[in-house]
Amino acid sequence: MSKVEEAREKARAIIRDFPVRAAPVPIERVVKARGIVLQHAPLDDEISGMAYIRDGVSIIGVNALHHPNRQRFTIAHELGHHVLHPEHLRSEVHLDKAFRVLMRDGMTSQGIDQLEIQANAFASELLMPTAFLEDYVDPAGLDLDDDERLEALARKFRVSTSALRYRLAPRG
Ligand SMILES: [Zn+2]
Repeated sequence: MSKVEEAREKARAIIRDFPVRAAPVPIERVVKARGIVLQHAPLDDEISGMAYIRDGVSIIGVNALHHPNRQRFTIAHELGHHVLHPEHLRSEVHLDKAFRVLMRDGMTSQGIDQLEIQANAFASELLMPTAFLEDYVDPAGLDLDDDERLEALARKFRVSTSALRYRLAPRG
């Protein structure tokens, strides 16, 4: 299993264990249920959020000035770092700037490293679990250019349309 698929599988396991069966995923409750401290703070616009572990306490910081749907993705992404790479969070604060990885083209050319790709795959699966998506859409039959349909679905899941488009795009 690739690291990215492993990341998705960990997200699926969290959803399976959580008493929620329909969109939207209550991401803040998921985080708090794991004993992680969630801090909302006004940050520079280019900073989405951060993850770190201090004195044994796992902490997620999110930019409170960003759109609520973007904050949800940031929180899920930072949870991904805690679940997937805690060893990196003890020695330093992991700081995330804009998630350009959501643009489907040029992912690697933009120098986004593997940890970010894994955290995004995790976040994408966590906020838009296959099992929940199937209630609303046949992924194989969805027209990604149908903006109205995508917007309605994004509202349901409380994610941005770009995050949804990325989630529904064929996986390599
Ligand atoms: Zn990150």
